[in-house]
This record gives sequence, C-alpha cells and structure tokens, in this order.
Amino acid sequence: MPKRGFKSITLKESVYADLEKTYRQNKAILEREGVDSLSSFVARIISTYIVDKESGRMQHFNIYENVIRIKDKKLGRIVDVDYRKDEMYCGLCESTDCVHTGYAWGIYKHYRTMP
Ligand SMILES: [Zn+2]
Repeated sequence: MPKRGFKSITLKESVYADLEKTYRQNKAILEREGVDSLSSFVARIISTYIVDKESGRMQHFNIYENVIRIKDKKLGRIVDVDYRKDEMYCGLCESTDCVHTGYAWGIYKHYRTMP
C-alpha cells in the first residue's frame, strides 16, 4: 500500500530492473537536475514523453535570470518556470513535475551544452 497522497502502478520485474539500472547509472547527473529518486526519474521520463508527443504544443519565449518563459499553445497560456536550487518549479501547475518543467529542463540542457 503506497503512503498517503501516492498511487502505485505495477510493472514487469524486467521493466523495473531496466529503469532502476538506468537510474543508478545516471544518478549523479539526475540528482543535479533535481531527480532524486526512482519515482521522480519515472515521472521525468513520462513528462519528457508527453512533451515529445505534443511537440509543437510548447513554444519557448525567453530565459531571464532564473525564469524560463514558455507559451503552452494547448492551454493558451504563458507559463513561467523558475529554476531554483537545482529544481524547476512551474508557477501554473505549482509543481516540479509537469509537462512545463519537463520542457524547461530540455531548454535548460540545450543552452547549458551550447559552446
Ligand atoms: Zn506546469
């Protein structure tokens, strides 16, 4: 039984083992990105999948100080995602794990790896 406020899903043992192995191998990098558990790793994978699936939904406006401004075309809203303490925080969803923070991580990584 999961603790209050959580739900569980059932995975094949082989799928779970693959996820755990990938998480363990990338743990240092993931922790710098605010992913500090296997479940937040899975949430990140899902949000990345949703962003990819709905490519064209999000449009990146700009980055200023610690804010990544995104236009969510599906919602017709401008969304500010704050980057603070190695975490992305979506002001609209009031969450660190949503489609906007997933998209913001992608933008952040893109700019960080630029020469
Ligand atoms: Zn959001």
